[in-house]
Amino acid sequence: MTATGAPATTRDGATARPIRRLPPLLVNQIAAGEVIERPASVVKELVENALDAGAARVEVELEEGGARLVRVTDDGRGIDRGQLALAIAPHATSKIAEQDDLDRIATMGFRGEALASIASVSRLSIRSRARGSGETWLLETEGETVHEPRPAGGPAGTSVTVRDLFFNTPARRKFLRTAPTEKSRCLDWLRDLALAHPGVAFRLVADGKTVFDVARADDARTRSIDVLGRELEPELLEVSVDRFDDARGVLVWGLVGRPSIARPNARAQHLFLNGRAIKDKTVQHAVREAYRGLIDHGRHPTCVLLIEMAPDAVDVNVHPAKLEVRFRDSSAVHHAVYHGVKEALRKADLTPEIGDALRAPPTPVFGPRGAGGSAELFAARVRELAGEAQRVADSGWADSGWGPPAGGRLDEPGSAPVHAPRTEAIGFAEPAGLAPAPARAARVLQLHDSYLVVEDADGMLIIDQHALHERVMFQKLLERVGRAKGGSGTLESQALLAPAVADLEPSALAVLDDLRPLLATLGIEAEPMGPRSIGVRSFPSLLLSRRVEPAPFVAELLARAERDPLPASEEGALHEVLDMMACKAAVKAGDRLSELEIDELLRLRETVERSSACPHGRPTSVRVTIPQLEKLFHRR
Ligand code: ADP
Ligand code: MG
Repeated sequence: MTATGAPATTRDGATARPIRRLPPLLVNQIAAGEVIERPASVVKELVENALDAGAARVEVELEEGGARLVRVTDDGRGIDRGQLALAIAPHATSKIAEQDDLDRIATMGFRGEALASIASVSRLSIRSRARGSGETWLLETEGETVHEPRPAGGPAGTSVTVRDLFFNTPARRKFLRTAPTEKSRCLDWLRDLALAHPGVAFRLVADGKTVFDVARADDARTRSIDVLGRELEPELLEVSVDRFDDARGVLVWGLVGRPSIARPNARAQHLFLNGRAIKDKTVQHAVREAYRGLIDHGRHPTCVLLIEMAPDAVDVNVHPAKLEVRFRDSSAVHHAVYHGVKEALRKADLTPEIGDALRAPPTPVFGPRGAGGSAELFAARVRELAGEAQRVADSGWADSGWGPPAGGRLDEPGSAPVHAPRTEAIGFAEPAGLAPAPARAARVLQLHDSYLVVEDADGMLIIDQHALHERVMFQKLLERVGRAKGGSGTLESQALLAPAVADLEPSALAVLDDLRPLLATLGIEAEPMGPRSIGVRSFPSLLLSRRVEPAPFVAELLARAERDPLPASEEGALHEVLDMMACKAAVKAGDRLSELEIDELLRLRETVERSSACPHGRPTSVRVTIPQLEKLFHRR
């Protein structure tokens, strides 16, 4: 009550009104707000119904991107005449009956809301012939009006037609985009549904033109290739995890893209759970982690991942459009996906081919159509690789046989380089009896003290010696810390006779305390020595053997952490510091390597995981194949 005695008002100033039950049409329209956003949501709901009805073939027709017409026709079990009106009633479903059913949902639908919602915002009709029945019936609705079913013609199965979507909710209609955009969203959904249901044939006809058509496939692999495009097949690696044998029961099958086809956004990640397309942070994170260090920061792996688990191990009733799910045991899912993808990547030779530069991007389906970003990135990559090829050509090795390049920086042009022997090891002493260094079979040339050119079975590899050594160092350091975690908890380190001292800004010194636990894991002991200098008492043996100066290293680390805080996660921070260590310890561009060092580096390349890319995701090696050489020299 205000001082003037005016009637109570609500916060926005409107006069308070009595509470009322909303009319059913409005209730359904409100429900539709959550589920039916655009024609693509209609396509999704209707196709899901067709799948639940056991269809073997589903056809979708669109007019004007679906705004004017969406029709989904299936050959499933159909709906009896007596049930037709119920199908479009709110909260009416044949898929669950009691509360317990919610814990083990095996169908795509269960909310009994889709048809009622769609009917409330469109002109909807259902034509259906139930299996075993000789009669086809047609039910028509318009807003609130539901007509009596009348006999019609047509084959067994169901055809649902949705005309003039949002004709009675103009505010909604305004949010629709252009017909081509809406059409492509419908297509995106249909592709996802097709990926998840290989045994069903799908077709999409838009304004009379067939834009998508996949036949029934025997397995998920065939279907995935049909949907993604055959030209992408060489870029895809198979993931397969069968953990049904253990109590946590997660089955993962999928195809993941080589790092070279990573995209600037995550839209080319197709994730499915029990036949349902989902968006899920746990799964996305597992995928990203599996690719860690294989792709540049800011790029996203491409994948199709089909996850299967017992229906009672997951709650699908947490999102109106069922796009999100809640796993009972999300760590089991994370584990299965992470290890599955990692293993697929580990088994593959990920060395990019220089031929990528000569080929058009093999990405007709994966990722956003028409978005410029990826094409630009690809073009940049082509330029990068082309530059690489040019540098190789410029170096002149091709004319001078396998001898050193003329005009290079070698001390004695034309003769075999003489190497001063070095004491520090390039790698790590392996336990005796393990992995004896094989006699080098391949011919190798060190170019400009920076690149190694190695003959291999397919042609040749061009290796960036620093990038490869950095990856090797990083991987070995990571292994050792991992092993140490179960044991002593630190990287093997050495006490310095006297503390090594370096100057630094007081602000950088201030982060020392925060970093102390991390430093301890790494075998670094450091103390402030006055307001602007730091003393290092112990330092990892490995870095010492690679002649990394302790005090400047720690000072730089602190300064960097102060400028740009380390990742919050323990693991992320560890990776970053190990990366810095690896970079410092690795041979540099410009370092002349001895035969022994080259052998050791090449041997480690074979044994170390993810050796195709440095920890930042840049390639360590590029392959030029014999056919590519033949092409360059017009031999074919
Ligand atoms: P839900 O799928 O959650 O059950 P819907 O509103 O989508 O709710 O559908 C309501 C009911 O109509 C379904 O439970 C099903 O029995 C029936 N139905 C809908 N579409 C079809 C179809 N294409 N074939 C057979 N039955 C269908
Ligand atoms: Mg449904």
